[in-house]
Amino acid sequence: MQSRRDFLQKLTASAAALSFTSYAAAAAPSVLRESQPYDGPVLRVAIMGLGGYGSRVAEAMQSSKMAKLVGVISGTPSKIKDWQTKYNIPEKNCYNYDNFDQIKNNADIDAVYVITPNALHRDQVIRVAKAGKHAITEKPMGLNAKECQDMIDACKKANVKLLVGYRLHFEPFTLEVVRMRKDGELGKVNFFQGLSGFKIGDPSQWRLNKQLAGGGSMMDIGIYAINGSRYMLGEDPIWVTAQETKTDPQKFKEGVDETITFQLGFPSGAVASCLSSYNINFLDRFFLSGDKGFAELSPATGYGPLKGRTNKGEINQPVVTHQTVQMDEMAAIILQNKKPVIPVDGEEGMKDLKIIDAIYESIKTGKQIALKL
Ligand code: NDP
Repeated sequence: MQSRRDFLQKLTASAAALSFTSYAAAAAPSVLRESQPYDGPVLRVAIMGLGGYGSRVAEAMQSSKMAKLVGVISGTPSKIKDWQTKYNIPEKNCYNYDNFDQIKNNADIDAVYVITPNALHRDQVIRVAKAGKHAITEKPMGLNAKECQDMIDACKKANVKLLVGYRLHFEPFTLEVVRMRKDGELGKVNFFQGLSGFKIGDPSQWRLNKQLAGGGSMMDIGIYAINGSRYMLGEDPIWVTAQETKTDPQKFKEGVDETITFQLGFPSGAVASCLSSYNINFLDRFFLSGDKGFAELSPATGYGPLKGRTNKGEINQPVVTHQTVQMDEMAAIILQNKKPVIPVDGEEGMKDLKIIDAIYESIKTGKQIALKL
C-alpha cells in the first residue's frame, strides 16, 4: 500500500505547486485531504474481465489506499496465472465465469468490478449481487434502461451497493468546472457542447459486434457526452433528437452506429449539442457556456492529463491517475457511505441508458423523444 507522500509525488510538479483550495472545496478525494497515513478500512476487490481496461484499473489500484485488488474472475487461465504472480493473488481468490457464484463463500472479497463487454454486465452484476458482494460495473451500465433496472433491483434485493465506473466524476478538472457552475461563476448556463469520438481500428473487435456491444460509438464513447451534459449543466434533459450518419456499412453493420449527432433540451431552457463517432478522430471536447463566462475541457474524457480553460484563463488542477482516485472514492462510498459530488450509483448509470434508448428511438422515428429520467 502506498503512502500519501507516494501519491502526491504522482501529481505533476506544476500541478502540485498549485493551491488545492478550489478542488478541496469541491470534493477532494479522501486521500488528498488526509494528513496522516491511512489505516482505516480497505475495500477488497476482485476484477472480472482481465482485458485492456481491467489491466489499467488493476495497475492504478496499486496506488489506491482504500481499495485493494485481491481477486480475479476470468475466462483465460493464462491471464489468471500472470495476474496471480504480478499482484500476489492467492489461488482461493481466482474464479472463472462458470464458478464465480462461489464467491459468496469467500469472506476475503468485498466487491467485484465487472470490466467485460457491455452485453455481459447485466447478468454478471446480478450474479455478483446474488453472491452478496458489492458490484462496480463499467459503462455503459447495461444495454438499455430495462437491463439497468434489473441490475438495480437485484442489488437492492441483495442489500449490496451498485456503482458505475464513471471515473471522471472524481476528476479534478471536471469537478472544478462543476464547482464554477454551482458557484455561479459562469452565470446562468444555457449551452453545452460534447464531442466524443475516435476512429476505431480492428473491424473484428467486440465493440463492433452488436451482440456484445449493444450498439456502436454511442454505447462506448457517445455516452461520455451524454453523461457530461448532465453533470456540466447540473440537470437532466427532458427531450432528445438524434440523427445517424453511416459512411462505412461494411465495418459498421446493422445496429452498430458509426456517427450520431444529438441534441438535448433541459428544464431550465438550456440545450446541448453533441456528437458521437467511431469514424472521426480528435473528438474529445466539452464546452459549457453561461451568461457570464464559459468553460472548456479539451481533452475532456481521456485518461489525462485533462486540460481546461475559461474566459478568465487556464484551469489549473492537480493531475491524478483517474482510476486510482476513483477506486479510493468508491471504497469510501461503499465502506463509509460517502456521498460523491456527482453520483455514480445505478440510478445515475440508468439515466444515460434511458437517453441512449431515446436516441436510438429518435433515429428510427425521426421524432423528438420526451425523456422522464
Ligand atoms: P477488452 O476487450 O480489452 O477486455 C474485455 C475482457 O472481458 C476480455 O479480455 C475478457 O477477459 C473478458 N471477456 C469475457 N467474455 C468476453 C467475450 N465474449 N468477448 C470478449 N471479452 C470477453 O475490453 P475493455 O477492457 O476495453 O472494455 C471492457 C469494458 O470496460 C467495456 O464495458 C468498456 O466500455 C469499459 N471501458 C471503460 C473505460 C473507462 O474509461 N471507464 C475505458 C475502456 C473500457 P478474460 O480473458 O479475463 O475473461
